[in-house]
Amino acid sequence: MDRDPASTQMHEHKEKMKDQPSVLLTGNGAPIAHKTASLTVGHQGPLLLQDHVFLDEMSHFNRERIPERVVHAKGAGAFGYFEVTHDITKYTKAKIFSKIGKRTPIAVRFSTVGGESGSADTVRDPRGFAVKFYTEEGVWDLVGNNTPIFFIKDPILFPSFIHTQKRNPVTHLKDMDMFWDFISLRPETTHQVMILFSDRGIPDGYRYMNGYGSHTFKLVNDDNQFVYCKFHYKTDQGIKNLFSEKASKISSQDPDYSIRDLYNAIAKKNFPSWTFYIQVMTEQQAEKFKWNPFDLTKIWPHKEFLLIPVGKLVLDKNPSNYFADVEQLAFNPAHLVPGIEPSPDKMLQGRLFAYGDTQRYRLGANHLQLPVNCPYKNLSLMNYQRDGFMSVNNQKGAPNYYPNSFSGPEVHVAAKPPPFNVVGDIDRHEPIDEDDFGQVTMFWQNVLDADAKTRLVNNIAMSLSDASNFIIERAIGNFSKVDIELGQRLIDELRKAGKSINITAKSARL
Ligand code: NDP
Repeated sequence: MDRDPASTQMHEHKEKMKDQPSVLLTGNGAPIAHKTASLTVGHQGPLLLQDHVFLDEMSHFNRERIPERVVHAKGAGAFGYFEVTHDITKYTKAKIFSKIGKRTPIAVRFSTVGGESGSADTVRDPRGFAVKFYTEEGVWDLVGNNTPIFFIKDPILFPSFIHTQKRNPVTHLKDMDMFWDFISLRPETTHQVMILFSDRGIPDGYRYMNGYGSHTFKLVNDDNQFVYCKFHYKTDQGIKNLFSEKASKISSQDPDYSIRDLYNAIAKKNFPSWTFYIQVMTEQQAEKFKWNPFDLTKIWPHKEFLLIPVGKLVLDKNPSNYFADVEQLAFNPAHLVPGIEPSPDKMLQGRLFAYGDTQRYRLGANHLQLPVNCPYKNLSLMNYQRDGFMSVNNQKGAPNYYPNSFSGPEVHVAAKPPPFNVVGDIDRHEPIDEDDFGQVTMFWQNVLDADAKTRLVNNIAMSLSDASNFIIERAIGNFSKVDIELGQRLIDELRKAGKSINITAKSARL
Protein backbone atom coordinates (compact mmCIF):
# COMPACT_ATOMS: atom_id res chain seq x y z
CA MET A 1 0.00 0.00 0.00
CA ASP A 2 1.22 3.52 -0.79
CA ARG A 3 2.43 5.44 2.21
CA ASP A 4 0.70 8.79 2.77
CA PRO A 5 2.50 12.17 2.62
CA ALA A 6 2.57 12.45 6.42
CA SER A 7 4.61 9.21 6.52
CA THR A 8 7.08 10.18 3.80
CA GLN A 9 8.03 13.69 4.87
CA MET A 10 11.64 12.65 5.50
CA HIS A 11 11.94 11.39 1.92
CA GLU A 12 10.63 14.69 0.67
CA HIS A 13 13.31 16.49 2.63
CA LYS A 14 16.00 14.19 1.26
CA GLU A 15 14.84 14.84 -2.28
CA LYS A 16 14.90 18.60 -1.72
CA MET A 17 18.42 18.46 -0.30
CA LYS A 18 19.92 16.18 -2.95
CA ASP A 19 22.18 18.75 -4.59
CA GLN A 20 23.01 20.78 -1.53
CA PRO A 21 24.69 18.75 1.22
CA SER A 22 24.77 20.72 4.48
CA VAL A 23 27.61 20.84 7.02
CA LEU A 24 26.93 20.00 10.65
CA LEU A 25 27.60 23.02 12.88
CA THR A 26 27.54 23.93 16.56
CA GLY A 27 25.11 26.59 17.77
CA ASN A 28 27.79 29.18 17.15
CA GLY A 29 28.19 27.98 13.58
CA ALA A 30 31.51 26.15 13.82
CA PRO A 31 31.91 22.88 11.88
CA ILE A 32 31.69 19.64 13.88
CA ALA A 33 34.21 16.94 13.01
CA HIS A 34 32.85 14.03 15.05
CA LYS A 35 29.26 13.46 16.14
CA THR A 36 28.98 9.95 17.54
CA ALA A 37 31.35 9.99 20.54
CA SER A 38 31.71 12.45 23.40
CA LEU A 39 35.15 13.74 24.40
CA THR A 40 36.55 11.45 27.13
CA VAL A 41 39.78 10.62 28.91
CA GLY A 42 40.50 7.20 27.47
CA HIS A 43 37.87 4.70 26.36
CA GLN A 44 36.11 4.53 29.73
CA GLY A 45 35.73 8.28 30.38
CA PRO A 46 35.18 10.54 32.33
CA LEU A 47 33.88 13.34 30.05
CA LEU A 48 35.59 16.68 29.71
CA LEU A 49 33.99 20.05 30.42
CA GLN A 50 35.63 21.36 27.28
CA ASP A 51 33.40 19.15 25.08
CA HIS A 52 31.42 22.04 23.65
CA VAL A 53 29.91 19.81 20.95
CA PHE A 54 28.23 17.69 23.65
CA LEU A 55 27.43 20.54 26.06
CA ASP A 56 26.04 22.78 23.32
CA GLU A 57 23.69 20.04 22.15
CA MET A 58 22.72 18.72 25.58
CA SER A 59 21.99 22.07 27.16
CA HIS A 60 19.83 23.06 24.20
CA PHE A 61 18.00 19.73 24.36
CA ASN A 62 17.28 20.34 28.05
CA ARG A 63 15.48 23.53 27.06
CA GLU A 64 13.44 22.22 24.11
CA ARG A 65 10.03 22.44 25.76
CA ILE A 66 8.17 25.66 26.37
CA PRO A 67 5.18 25.80 28.72
CA GLU A 68 2.33 23.83 27.23
CA ARG A 69 -0.84 25.79 26.62
CA VAL A 70 -3.13 25.26 29.65
CA VAL A 71 -6.04 24.90 27.23
CA HIS A 72 -5.93 23.93 23.56
CA ALA A 73 -2.56 22.20 24.01
CA LYS A 74 -3.02 19.57 21.27
CA GLY A 75 -3.38 21.07 17.84
CA ALA A 76 -2.72 21.15 14.14
CA GLY A 77 -2.04 24.14 11.94
CA ALA A 78 -1.98 25.18 8.32
CA PHE A 79 -1.71 28.23 6.12
CA GLY A 80 -3.71 29.65 3.26
CA TYR A 81 -5.77 32.65 2.34
CA PHE A 82 -9.07 34.41 2.87
CA GLU A 83 -10.82 35.66 -0.27
CA VAL A 84 -13.67 38.16 -0.31
CA THR A 85 -16.64 37.00 -2.40
CA HIS A 86 -19.31 39.47 -1.23
CA ASP A 87 -19.25 43.16 -0.41
CA ILE A 88 -19.78 44.03 3.26
CA THR A 89 -18.18 47.49 3.15
CA LYS A 90 -21.48 49.02 4.29
CA TYR A 91 -20.85 47.32 7.64
CA THR A 92 -17.09 47.57 8.08
CA LYS A 93 -14.16 49.64 6.97
CA ALA A 94 -11.69 46.83 7.74
CA LYS A 95 -9.44 46.75 4.68
CA ILE A 96 -9.43 42.96 4.57
CA PHE A 97 -13.04 43.22 3.26
CA SER A 98 -12.48 46.22 0.98
CA LYS A 99 -12.87 44.53 -2.43
CA ILE A 100 -14.41 41.41 -3.89
CA GLY A 101 -11.60 39.09 -4.97
CA LYS A 102 -9.15 40.47 -2.41
CA ARG A 103 -6.97 37.79 -0.79
CA THR A 104 -5.37 37.99 2.66
CA PRO A 105 -2.90 35.37 3.94
CA ILE A 106 -4.09 33.37 6.95
CA ALA A 107 -2.80 30.88 9.48
CA VAL A 108 -5.22 28.51 11.20
CA ARG A 109 -4.77 26.42 14.33
CA PHE A 110 -7.23 23.67 15.19
CA SER A 111 -7.14 21.99 18.57
CA THR A 112 -8.88 20.03 21.24
CA VAL A 113 -9.33 21.88 24.54
CA GLY A 114 -8.82 19.80 27.65
CA GLY A 115 -6.14 17.25 26.76
CA GLU A 116 -2.39 17.63 26.99
CA SER A 117 -0.24 18.04 23.92
CA GLY A 118 0.17 14.25 23.54
CA SER A 119 -3.51 13.43 24.07
CA ALA A 120 -5.78 11.78 21.50
CA ASP A 121 -7.47 13.84 18.80
CA THR A 122 -10.76 11.95 18.62
CA VAL A 123 -12.12 12.77 22.05
CA ARG A 124 -15.41 14.38 22.97
CA ASP A 125 -14.33 17.95 23.51
CA PRO A 126 -14.96 21.29 21.81
CA ARG A 127 -12.45 22.07 19.06
CA GLY A 128 -10.52 25.32 18.76
CA PHE A 129 -10.67 26.92 15.30
CA ALA A 130 -8.48 30.01 15.48
CA VAL A 131 -7.75 32.10 12.40
CA LYS A 132 -4.94 34.62 12.08
CA PHE A 133 -5.47 37.09 9.23
CA TYR A 134 -2.26 38.86 8.19
CA THR A 135 -4.03 42.02 6.99
CA GLU A 136 -2.42 45.17 5.67
CA GLU A 137 -3.64 46.98 8.81
CA GLY A 138 -2.11 44.49 11.22
CA VAL A 139 -2.87 40.98 12.42
CA TRP A 140 -6.51 40.16 13.15
CA ASP A 141 -6.98 37.05 15.29
CA LEU A 142 -10.42 35.45 15.24
CA VAL A 143 -9.94 32.93 18.02
CA GLY A 144 -12.99 30.73 17.58
CA ASN A 145 -14.29 27.24 18.25
CA ASN A 146 -16.35 24.66 16.38
CA THR A 147 -19.38 25.61 18.46
CA PRO A 148 -21.24 28.92 18.34
CA ILE A 149 -21.48 29.13 22.13
CA PHE A 150 -19.50 28.31 25.27
CA PHE A 151 -20.09 26.73 28.69
CA ILE A 152 -19.97 29.90 30.78
CA LYS A 153 -20.71 33.57 30.38
CA ASP A 154 -18.44 35.20 32.98
CA PRO A 155 -14.66 34.81 32.61
CA ILE A 156 -14.11 34.74 36.38
CA LEU A 157 -15.37 31.14 36.26
CA PHE A 158 -12.96 30.08 33.51
CA PRO A 159 -10.06 28.76 35.63
CA SER A 160 -12.48 26.74 37.79
CA PHE A 161 -14.31 25.42 34.76
CA ILE A 162 -11.08 24.31 33.09
CA HIS A 163 -9.84 22.65 36.28
CA THR A 164 -12.95 20.45 36.16
CA GLN A 165 -12.10 19.37 32.60
CA LYS A 166 -8.56 18.43 33.56
CA ARG A 167 -7.02 16.11 36.11
CA ASN A 168 -7.96 15.58 39.74
CA PRO A 169 -5.11 17.10 41.80
CA VAL A 170 -4.68 13.91 43.88
CA THR A 171 -5.33 11.06 41.48
CA HIS A 172 -4.05 12.85 38.38
CA LEU A 173 -7.04 11.32 36.58
CA LYS A 174 -10.00 12.85 34.80
CA ASP A 175 -12.79 12.99 37.36
CA MET A 176 -16.48 12.77 36.42
CA ASP A 177 -17.53 14.14 39.81
CA MET A 178 -15.52 17.30 39.16
CA PHE A 179 -16.85 17.58 35.62
CA TRP A 180 -20.55 17.04 36.35
CA ASP A 181 -20.50 18.85 39.71
CA PHE A 182 -19.53 22.12 38.05
CA ILE A 183 -21.77 21.55 35.02
CA SER A 184 -24.81 20.79 37.14
CA LEU A 185 -24.20 23.73 39.48
CA ARG A 186 -24.06 26.18 36.55
CA PRO A 187 -27.20 25.76 34.41
CA GLU A 188 -25.84 28.13 31.75
CA THR A 189 -23.48 25.28 30.70
CA THR A 190 -26.44 23.16 29.53
CA HIS A 191 -26.53 24.54 25.96
CA GLN A 192 -22.86 23.80 25.28
CA VAL A 193 -23.05 20.45 27.08
CA MET A 194 -25.90 19.37 24.79
CA ILE A 195 -23.90 20.29 21.68
CA LEU A 196 -20.81 18.60 23.14
CA PHE A 197 -22.64 15.30 23.73
CA SER A 198 -24.41 15.49 20.36
CA ASP A 199 -22.84 14.06 17.20
CA ARG A 200 -20.82 17.23 16.64
CA GLY A 201 -18.95 16.62 19.91
CA ILE A 202 -16.45 14.42 18.02
CA PRO A 203 -15.71 15.80 14.54
CA ASP A 204 -14.16 13.38 12.05
CA GLY A 205 -10.98 15.44 11.81
CA TYR A 206 -10.69 19.20 11.52
CA ARG A 207 -11.78 19.54 7.90
CA TYR A 208 -15.33 18.43 8.53
CA MET A 209 -16.44 20.90 11.16
CA ASN A 210 -17.74 24.46 11.19
CA GLY A 211 -16.05 27.33 12.95
CA TYR A 212 -17.59 30.21 14.86
CA GLY A 213 -16.10 33.42 16.20
CA SER A 214 -18.70 32.69 18.92
CA HIS A 215 -18.47 36.10 20.63
CA THR A 216 -20.41 39.15 19.57
CA PHE A 217 -18.15 41.73 17.95
CA LYS A 218 -18.79 45.18 16.53
CA LEU A 219 -18.28 46.13 12.89
CA VAL A 220 -17.61 49.81 12.20
CA ASN A 221 -17.96 51.37 8.74
CA ASP A 222 -16.35 54.39 7.06
CA ASP A 223 -19.03 56.68 8.50
CA ASN A 224 -18.21 55.39 11.98
CA GLN A 225 -21.61 53.68 12.29
CA PHE A 226 -21.56 50.29 13.93
CA VAL A 227 -23.51 47.03 14.01
CA TYR A 228 -22.97 44.07 16.29
CA CYS A 229 -21.75 40.99 14.49
CA LYS A 230 -21.11 37.26 14.79
CA PHE A 231 -18.72 35.33 12.53
CA HIS A 232 -19.46 31.85 11.13
CA TYR A 233 -17.25 29.71 8.94
CA LYS A 234 -19.04 26.69 7.53
CA THR A 235 -17.11 23.73 6.18
CA ASP A 236 -17.30 23.20 2.40
CA GLN A 237 -16.33 19.54 2.97
CA GLY A 238 -19.66 18.91 4.75
CA ILE A 239 -20.06 18.03 8.42
CA LYS A 240 -18.68 14.61 9.35
CA ASN A 241 -18.57 13.25 12.87
CA LEU A 242 -17.41 10.11 14.61
CA PHE A 243 -19.70 8.05 16.78
CA SER A 244 -18.33 7.35 20.26
CA GLU A 245 -17.24 3.74 19.68
CA LYS A 246 -15.35 4.41 16.49
CA ALA A 247 -13.77 7.52 18.02
CA SER A 248 -12.40 5.61 21.00
CA LYS A 249 -11.05 2.88 18.72
CA ILE A 250 -9.23 5.52 16.67
CA SER A 251 -7.93 7.12 19.89
CA SER A 252 -5.99 3.98 20.67
CA GLN A 253 -4.92 3.23 17.10
CA ASP A 254 -3.95 6.70 15.94
CA PRO A 255 -4.10 9.40 18.62
CA ASP A 256 -2.92 11.94 16.01
CA TYR A 257 -5.73 11.17 13.57
CA SER A 258 -6.82 14.78 12.99
CA ILE A 259 -3.32 16.19 12.56
CA ARG A 260 -2.54 13.42 10.05
CA ASP A 261 -5.79 13.94 8.15
CA LEU A 262 -5.20 17.68 7.74
CA TYR A 263 -1.55 17.28 6.75
CA ASN A 264 -2.30 14.59 4.17
CA ALA A 265 -5.24 16.44 2.62
CA ILE A 266 -3.15 19.56 2.07
CA ALA A 267 -0.10 17.60 0.88
CA LYS A 268 -2.33 15.85 -1.69
CA LYS A 269 -3.62 19.28 -2.80
CA ASN A 270 -7.09 18.47 -1.54
CA PHE A 271 -7.29 21.92 0.02
CA PRO A 272 -10.00 22.31 2.67
CA SER A 273 -12.12 25.44 2.61
CA TRP A 274 -14.83 27.12 4.62
CA THR A 275 -17.46 29.68 3.58
CA PHE A 276 -17.29 32.72 5.80
CA TYR A 277 -20.50 34.46 6.91
CA ILE A 278 -21.54 37.20 9.28
CA GLN A 279 -24.73 37.84 11.18
CA VAL A 280 -25.40 41.47 12.02
CA MET A 281 -27.61 43.11 14.64
CA THR A 282 -28.24 46.83 15.02
CA GLU A 283 -28.02 48.61 18.37
CA GLN A 284 -31.83 48.96 18.35
CA GLN A 285 -32.31 45.25 17.63
CA ALA A 286 -29.87 44.45 20.43
CA GLU A 287 -31.98 46.42 22.90
CA LYS A 288 -35.10 44.43 21.96
CA PHE A 289 -33.47 41.00 21.49
CA LYS A 290 -35.17 38.25 23.49
CA TRP A 291 -31.84 37.12 24.94
CA ASN A 292 -28.74 39.02 25.99
CA PRO A 293 -26.91 39.49 22.65
CA PHE A 294 -23.56 39.53 24.49
CA ASP A 295 -24.11 36.27 26.35
CA LEU A 296 -21.68 33.64 25.04
CA THR A 297 -24.06 30.82 25.98
CA LYS A 298 -26.60 32.04 23.40
CA ILE A 299 -26.81 32.04 19.62
CA TRP A 300 -28.59 34.53 17.39
CA PRO A 301 -31.29 32.53 15.54
CA HIS A 302 -30.56 32.33 11.82
CA LYS A 303 -34.14 33.10 10.82
CA GLU A 304 -34.03 36.43 12.65
CA PHE A 305 -30.41 37.29 11.81
CA LEU A 306 -29.62 35.87 8.39
CA LEU A 307 -26.23 34.48 7.50
CA ILE A 308 -24.63 37.00 5.13
CA PRO A 309 -21.95 35.47 2.89
CA VAL A 310 -18.59 37.24 2.92
CA GLY A 311 -15.82 35.03 1.59
CA LYS A 312 -13.81 31.82 1.67
CA LEU A 313 -11.08 30.50 3.94
CA VAL A 314 -8.78 28.13 2.06
CA LEU A 315 -5.90 26.13 3.56
CA ASP A 316 -3.30 25.23 0.93
CA LYS A 317 0.01 25.02 2.77
CA ASN A 318 1.28 22.76 5.51
CA PRO A 319 3.59 24.11 8.20
CA SER A 320 7.23 23.95 7.19
CA ASN A 321 8.11 23.20 10.82
CA TYR A 322 5.60 22.28 13.51
CA PHE A 323 7.26 24.01 16.44
CA ALA A 324 8.13 27.21 14.58
CA ASP A 325 4.82 27.52 12.76
CA VAL A 326 2.21 25.93 15.00
CA GLU A 327 3.51 25.66 18.57
CA GLN A 328 4.72 29.25 18.40
CA LEU A 329 1.59 30.48 16.65
CA ALA A 330 0.13 32.84 19.23
CA PHE A 331 -3.49 33.99 19.05
CA ASN A 332 -5.00 36.87 20.94
CA PRO A 333 -8.61 38.08 20.58
CA ALA A 334 -7.34 41.59 21.43
CA HIS A 335 -5.61 41.60 18.04
CA LEU A 336 -8.27 43.52 16.16
CA VAL A 337 -7.96 45.89 13.22
CA PRO A 338 -9.80 49.16 12.44
CA GLY A 339 -13.42 48.32 11.57
CA ILE A 340 -13.64 45.36 13.96
CA GLU A 341 -14.15 46.13 17.64
CA PRO A 342 -15.04 44.19 20.79
CA SER A 343 -18.57 44.16 22.18
CA PRO A 344 -19.36 44.18 25.93
CA ASP A 345 -19.47 40.31 25.88
CA LYS A 346 -17.90 39.58 29.29
CA MET A 347 -16.15 36.42 28.10
CA LEU A 348 -14.61 38.31 25.20
CA GLN A 349 -13.54 41.10 27.54
CA GLY A 350 -11.84 38.51 29.78
CA ARG A 351 -10.10 36.91 26.80
CA LEU A 352 -8.85 40.30 25.59
CA PHE A 353 -6.60 40.19 28.66
CA ALA A 354 -5.98 36.49 29.14
CA TYR A 355 -4.55 35.53 25.75
CA GLY A 356 -1.84 38.19 25.53
CA ASP A 357 -0.93 37.40 29.12
CA THR A 358 -0.60 33.69 28.44
CA GLN A 359 1.42 34.22 25.24
CA ARG A 360 3.84 36.48 27.10
CA TYR A 361 4.26 33.73 29.70
CA ARG A 362 4.52 30.95 27.11
CA LEU A 363 6.66 32.67 24.47
CA GLY A 364 7.91 35.88 26.00
CA ALA A 365 7.48 39.61 25.66
CA ASN A 366 8.67 39.66 22.07
CA HIS A 367 6.56 36.77 20.72
CA LEU A 368 5.00 39.09 18.14
CA GLN A 369 8.40 39.36 16.49
CA LEU A 370 8.41 35.64 15.67
CA PRO A 371 7.89 35.28 11.92
CA VAL A 372 4.60 33.41 12.27
CA ASN A 373 3.09 36.05 14.56
CA CYS A 374 4.55 39.11 12.94
CA PRO A 375 2.28 41.42 10.91
CA TYR A 376 3.21 41.01 7.23
CA LYS A 377 3.35 44.75 6.84
CA ASN A 378 5.61 45.01 9.86
CA LEU A 379 7.91 47.83 8.95
CA SER A 380 11.06 47.96 10.95
CA LEU A 381 9.72 51.08 12.73
CA MET A 382 6.36 50.37 14.38
CA ASN A 383 6.02 51.72 17.88
CA TYR A 384 7.79 52.56 21.14
CA GLN A 385 8.17 49.03 22.55
CA ARG A 386 11.81 48.05 23.05
CA ASP A 387 14.14 45.41 24.47
CA GLY A 388 13.18 42.32 26.50
CA PHE A 389 14.22 38.72 25.87
CA MET A 390 14.95 37.81 22.24
CA SER A 391 14.29 41.16 20.64
CA VAL A 392 15.02 40.64 16.96
CA ASN A 393 13.53 43.83 15.58
CA ASN A 394 14.51 46.47 18.11
CA GLN A 395 13.61 49.30 15.73
CA LYS A 396 17.13 50.53 15.07
CA GLY A 397 17.88 54.19 15.76
CA ALA A 398 14.29 55.42 16.00
CA PRO A 399 13.25 57.38 19.12
CA ASN A 400 11.94 55.15 21.92
CA TYR A 401 9.62 57.76 23.47
CA TYR A 402 6.48 59.60 22.39
CA PRO A 403 5.87 62.43 21.62
CA ASN A 404 9.16 63.24 19.96
CA SER A 405 10.63 65.61 17.40
CA PHE A 406 12.70 62.94 15.60
CA SER A 407 10.42 61.19 13.08
CA GLY A 408 9.10 58.45 15.33
CA PRO A 409 5.89 56.67 14.19
CA GLU A 410 2.77 58.88 14.28
CA VAL A 411 -0.85 58.10 15.16
CA HIS A 412 -3.39 57.34 12.42
CA VAL A 413 -6.54 59.27 13.41
CA ALA A 414 -8.79 57.41 10.94
CA ALA A 415 -8.35 54.24 13.03
CA LYS A 416 -10.34 55.76 15.90
CA PRO A 417 -13.49 53.75 16.70
CA PRO A 418 -16.75 55.60 17.47
CA PRO A 419 -17.22 56.48 21.14
CA PHE A 420 -20.03 54.72 22.96
CA ASN A 421 -21.86 55.45 26.14
CA VAL A 422 -21.91 53.10 29.13
CA VAL A 423 -23.67 53.68 32.44
CA GLY A 424 -24.25 51.31 35.32
CA ASP A 425 -23.49 50.48 38.91
CA ILE A 426 -20.07 49.01 39.50
CA ASP A 427 -20.71 45.67 41.18
CA ARG A 428 -20.14 41.95 40.72
CA HIS A 429 -23.35 41.38 38.77
CA GLU A 430 -24.71 37.85 38.67
CA PRO A 431 -26.86 37.17 35.58
CA ILE A 432 -30.47 38.10 36.29
CA ASP A 433 -33.46 36.22 34.89
CA GLU A 434 -31.49 34.93 31.98
CA ASP A 435 -33.21 32.09 30.20
CA ASP A 436 -30.56 29.36 30.13
CA PHE A 437 -32.85 26.69 28.70
CA GLY A 438 -35.02 28.22 25.92
CA GLN A 439 -32.41 27.89 23.17
CA VAL A 440 -31.44 24.43 24.38
CA THR A 441 -35.08 23.39 24.04
CA MET A 442 -34.99 24.70 20.43
CA PHE A 443 -31.88 22.61 19.85
CA TRP A 444 -33.40 19.43 21.31
CA GLN A 445 -36.83 19.84 19.74
CA ASN A 446 -36.07 21.36 16.32
CA VAL A 447 -32.48 20.59 15.34
CA LEU A 448 -31.95 16.94 16.32
CA ASP A 449 -33.70 14.07 14.57
CA ALA A 450 -34.84 10.96 16.44
CA ASP A 451 -31.58 9.01 16.00
CA ALA A 452 -29.45 12.02 16.96
CA LYS A 453 -31.56 12.42 20.11
CA THR A 454 -31.02 8.78 21.04
CA ARG A 455 -27.25 9.09 20.58
CA LEU A 456 -27.22 12.29 22.64
CA VAL A 457 -29.12 10.64 25.50
CA ASN A 458 -26.79 7.63 25.42
CA ASN A 459 -23.66 9.79 25.32
CA ILE A 460 -24.76 11.92 28.28
CA ALA A 461 -25.92 8.90 30.29
CA MET A 462 -22.65 7.05 29.72
CA SER A 463 -20.59 9.98 31.00
CA LEU A 464 -22.97 10.98 33.80
CA SER A 465 -23.15 7.44 35.17
CA ASP A 466 -19.57 7.82 36.46
CA ALA A 467 -20.57 10.73 38.73
CA SER A 468 -22.01 10.55 42.28
CA ASN A 469 -25.76 10.08 42.60
CA PHE A 470 -26.56 13.52 44.04
CA ILE A 471 -24.70 15.12 41.14
CA ILE A 472 -26.51 12.92 38.61
CA GLU A 473 -29.86 13.97 40.02
CA ARG A 474 -28.93 17.66 39.94
CA ALA A 475 -27.80 17.32 36.31
CA ILE A 476 -31.06 15.58 35.41
CA GLY A 477 -32.84 18.58 36.90
CA ASN A 478 -31.20 20.85 34.35
CA PHE A 479 -31.83 18.51 31.41
CA SER A 480 -35.47 18.15 32.49
CA LYS A 481 -35.80 21.92 32.32
CA VAL A 482 -34.73 21.69 28.67
CA ASP A 483 -37.41 19.11 27.98
CA ILE A 484 -39.27 16.65 30.22
CA GLU A 485 -38.79 13.87 27.67
CA LEU A 486 -35.01 14.41 27.68
CA GLY A 487 -34.92 14.24 31.49
CA GLN A 488 -37.02 11.09 31.59
CA ARG A 489 -35.00 9.35 28.88
CA LEU A 490 -31.81 10.08 30.81
CA ILE A 491 -33.34 8.66 33.98
CA ASP A 492 -34.38 5.52 32.08
CA GLU A 493 -30.92 5.09 30.57
CA LEU A 494 -29.14 5.63 33.88
CA ARG A 495 -31.43 3.13 35.61
CA LYS A 496 -30.59 0.62 32.87
CA ALA A 497 -26.93 1.24 33.70
CA GLY A 498 -27.68 0.25 37.29
CA LYS A 499 -27.94 3.71 38.87
CA SER A 500 -30.60 4.20 41.49
CA ILE A 501 -32.30 7.45 40.53
CA ASN A 502 -34.89 8.59 43.04
CA ILE A 503 -36.50 11.40 41.04
CA THR A 504 -38.77 11.77 38.03
CA ALA A 505 -38.14 14.27 35.28
CA LYS A 506 -41.20 16.17 36.47
CA SER A 507 -40.00 16.45 40.06
CA ALA A 508 -36.44 17.22 38.93
CA ARG A 509 -37.69 20.08 36.78
CA LEU A 510 -39.16 21.96 39.73
P1 NDP B 1 -31.52 26.77 12.51
O1 NDP B 1 -32.44 25.64 12.26
O2 NDP B 1 -31.55 27.94 11.58
O3 NDP B 1 -30.01 26.25 12.61
C1 NDP B 1 -29.69 25.12 13.36
C2 NDP B 1 -28.19 25.10 13.44
O4 NDP B 1 -27.81 23.97 14.17
C3 NDP B 1 -27.50 25.01 12.10
O5 NDP B 1 -26.48 25.99 12.12
C4 NDP B 1 -26.86 23.63 12.09
O6 NDP B 1 -25.63 23.70 11.46
C5 NDP B 1 -26.68 23.42 13.56
N1 NDP B 1 -26.63 22.03 14.02
C6 NDP B 1 -27.21 20.92 13.54
N2 NDP B 1 -26.89 19.85 14.30
C7 NDP B 1 -26.10 20.32 15.28
C8 NDP B 1 -25.43 19.70 16.36
N3 NDP B 1 -25.56 18.41 16.61
N4 NDP B 1 -24.69 20.48 17.16
C9 NDP B 1 -24.57 21.81 16.92
N5 NDP B 1 -25.17 22.45 15.92
C10 NDP B 1 -25.92 21.70 15.11
O7 NDP B 1 -31.79 27.17 14.02
P2 NDP B 1 -31.56 28.49 14.89
O8 NDP B 1 -30.61 29.45 14.33
O9 NDP B 1 -32.92 28.98 15.25
O10 NDP B 1 -30.93 27.80 16.18
C11 NDP B 1 -31.56 26.67 16.81
C12 NDP B 1 -30.54 25.97 17.65
O11 NDP B 1 -29.52 25.47 16.79
C13 NDP B 1 -29.80 26.88 18.62
O12 NDP B 1 -30.46 27.02 19.83
C14 NDP B 1 -28.48 26.22 18.76
O13 NDP B 1 -28.57 25.26 19.79
C15 NDP B 1 -28.26 25.53 17.44
N6 NDP B 1 -27.30 26.27 16.58
C16 NDP B 1 -27.58 27.54 16.16
C17 NDP B 1 -26.63 28.27 15.49
C18 NDP B 1 -26.85 29.71 15.17
O14 NDP B 1 -25.85 30.43 15.05
N7 NDP B 1 -28.07 30.17 15.03
C19 NDP B 1 -25.36 27.66 15.10
C20 NDP B 1 -25.20 26.29 15.51
C21 NDP B 1 -26.14 25.66 16.26
P3 NDP B 1 -25.45 23.47 9.87
O15 NDP B 1 -26.42 24.36 9.19
O16 NDP B 1 -24.05 23.84 9.62
O17 NDP B 1 -25.74 22.02 9.65
